[in-house]
Amino acid sequence: MSACLAGINCKYHGGHNLDPEIRRMVAEGNAIPVCPEQLGGLRIPRAPAEMQGGDGREVLAGRARVVTKDGEDVTEAFVKGARETLALSELSGAGEAILKEGSPSCGSSRVYDGTFSGASLPGEGVTAALLRQAGLRVYSEKNWHESQN
Ligand code: SF4
Repeated sequence: MSACLAGINCKYHGGHNLDPEIRRMVAEGNAIPVCPEQLGGLRIPRAPAEMQGGDGREVLAGRARVVTKDGEDVTEAFVKGARETLALSELSGAGEAILKEGSPSCGSSRVYDGTFSGASLPGEGVTAALLRQAGLRVYSEKNWHESQN
């Protein structure tokens, strides 16, 4: 699951997105916290980034890119982080992931539109897309309860 949901301070500005229920799953040993952007080599804090030209599927296909608000192309780091997250999921035998909605790495149904205006579009982040392509079931902090039914 997204490490920021477990209260780890890995967000671009150095904060977190704590969800107590998700933190409990980690504390009980039922989930592994992962931050794809950290695994991709990005620093904390770092400039916010959004996808331009398409969502995570398009980034993985080489048809879109991830850029920071300052204009730096960080596509390579996002793809590396997605691949490392997939490797961890394979190592641990995970069949599903709970990822932070809206993130260019972790978003599973909505992502920001690339204009840094706060507007979002239907789509998925780079890590969510890669995990789904590998057959994992991917949920967000908003809909993961569906996986329990
Ligand atoms: Fe959280 Fe994912 Fe962003 Fe890391 S990449 S801070 S885990 S939403």
